Amino acid sequence: MLRLLQLELPLFGLPREARRAPVVQAAEERRRIMLDGKSIDYAVRRSAKRRTLGLTIDTRGLRVAAPAKAKHADIERLIHRHAAWVLAKLREWQHPEHAAARAWSLADTLPWLGRALPLKVAPGKPGLAIFDDMLILTVPRPDDERETRARLVLLVKQSARADFSARLARYAAAFDAPLPQLRLTRAATRWGSCARDAAGGHRISLNWRMIHLAPRLIDYVVAHEVAHMRHMHHGPRFWAAVERLYPDYLAARDEMRRMSLRLPEI
Ligand SMILES: [Zn+2]
Repeated sequence: MLRLLQLELPLFGLPREARRAPVVQAAEERRRIMLDGKSIDYAVRRSAKRRTLGLTIDTRGLRVAAPAKAKHADIERLIHRHAAWVLAKLREWQHPEHAAARAWSLADTLPWLGRALPLKVAPGKPGLAIFDDMLILTVPRPDDERETRARLVLLVKQSARADFSARLARYAAAFDAPLPQLRLTRAATRWGSCARDAAGGHRISLNWRMIHLAPRLIDYVVAHEVAHMRHMHHGPRFWAAVERLYPDYLAARDEMRRMSLRLPEI
């Protein structure tokens, strides 16, 4: 019988083995199974030491740890029995932003730089830190849910500012442009914008909710707005500048279009 712990544990970040220095990897069988009309690839890893079957899901997809002699039919039966869980968790990992429905709660994972991180609230001086693949939110009164959420938003914005500032400095330098001012927004439909002020300087506005997205997507938006510092339009010269700063911009642009409105409402 599969214990719940085995199912749940790997969701709190990558399995420990992935963080260790590479050792000789056990051979993996690649297989495919149909679940609810969807074709799902998975890997089976056999070990002589193992006595039970275990399922894990992480960024690499579905993996089964199995005793050396486990029957293929038993493995498939196990996956079928947990089909709903497997499909839901795969969806979460592939699209962390989907995990967060509109009614996001403090008990949910929070997409953070493209990874779904569990949030832990603890008493302490207000702060937000990542530790051991978890987001640790410290607030003076963790029991006060309203206050906790309000603090969370402030701290998330602070983190976003620090993260985006560093990216902005990098892309402005790469573009040989002076460092623009950064303003954070929470526009529903806009990731970023670039404006020129009266003194001829630039101000770039970035949506702080991008902190939920993968770093490569944030980089794309930053590169895009930095390119606007010289080209205030979306003409060919603008896109050429974007490409110089961010060569894979077409893929990122498409991905960002699909991302809109899929972020959690914290
Ligand atoms: Zn633009």
